[in-house]
Amino acid sequence: MDILIVFEAKEGQAHRMSLEAVAAAQSMAKELNLTTAVLVMGKDAKSLAENASALDVGEVLTLEHDLLSEYSADGYTEALKQIIAQESPSYVVMGYTYQARDWVPKVSAQLTIPYISDVISVKAEGESPVFTRMVYNGKLISDITPTGGETAIVSFQAAAYPEDSVISGSAETRSVEVELGASMISTVSEPPFQEESGGVDLSGAEVIVSVGRGIGKEENIPLVEALAKSLNAEVGSSRPIVDAGWLPTFRQVGSSGQSVAPKLYLALGISGAIQHIVGMKGSKNIVAINKDAEAPIFEIADYGVVGDILEILPKLTEAIEQ
Ligand SMILES: Cc1cc2nc3c(=O)[nH]c(=O)nc-3n(C[C@H](O)[C@H](O)[C@H](O)COP(=O)(O)OP(=O)(O)OC[C@H]3O[C@@H](n4cnc5c(N)ncnc54)[C@H](O)[C@@H]3O)c2cc1C
Repeated sequence: MDILIVFEAKEGQAHRMSLEAVAAAQSMAKELNLTTAVLVMGKDAKSLAENASALDVGEVLTLEHDLLSEYSADGYTEALKQIIAQESPSYVVMGYTYQARDWVPKVSAQLTIPYISDVISVKAEGESPVFTRMVYNGKLISDITPTGGETAIVSFQAAAYPEDSVISGSAETRSVEVELGASMISTVSEPPFQEESGGVDLSGAEVIVSVGRGIGKEENIPLVEALAKSLNAEVGSSRPIVDAGWLPTFRQVGSSGQSVAPKLYLALGISGAIQHIVGMKGSKNIVAINKDAEAPIFEIADYGVVGDILEILPKLTEAIEQ
């Protein structure tokens, strides 16, 4: 195959970002006339294989091994190195997840092959893909084409390709094997990264009402919570709100918070700093309310209201409740 998509499990099922990686790979395959396959491994290999075989991919490679039943960076690295040697894919793609950040750079370093991380889009130029990623915290955009001829690893940013654009299909599964020994695994991983306990995974929310410093003071936060309740939405926030302790850390959206891609994102009194934008620009509809008509958030908003949120929020909540 040309493109090997590496799946990751979340609670026994395919991680949302693995499905987004499939959407990216399908788009690449279509534009460049390439073939695809999914690799599933680890203790959830069977359920992941079921997920993957219902997609429009060439085949599903199933890798089961006792030493892969618990995730370890060493085990996964060794396994993928051997699969790359066996299958010679041109591209290995995956989501830019916390787990991928832990082990994938090792594969790249040990095989001395390119790793293009956190990609936001891919397009075809002639017969080559061009991968686009943001650099310098989103201030510049860089286009990269691997030219060495060896396998290139590519990870995609959350919501770069929407999960709902994945094309369904039916794919055969094939068992693959690797040789692993206990001496190859010298690290023991801690449990997977969890957002703060009691936290909410905003990445799955369909509607997010997000609040910024424009709310003025902590006593005004209930205005936002009331609007969120009326819309059956989750509350999100910019960083200063969390830094001030007005909302818990897991509500923060942005480069040092969560990446979200809801159907509707309301940005209330949020200026639109790049560190915030990178976490929510994948939202399908962005509605911004800000009293400054020049606020950068309006550049990416689908709908913008220039006004005072302290006046608008109670009226909007009342209107929705009615
Ligand atoms: C390394 C690093 C990581 C960062 N990570 C993140 C991150 O993950 N997420 C994040 O959000 N930020 C992050 N930041 C901070 C980021 O740079 C901005 O400072 C922050 O996003 C600004 O938050 P804000 O828009 O709420 O506040 P401000 O920039 O202060 O904007 C407030 C806005 O509210 C408007 N306003 C004021 N009063 C009203 C009113 N009554 N009605 C309507 N509008 C009003 C103003 O016009 C203004 O546009 C990070 C910064 C750094 C350096």
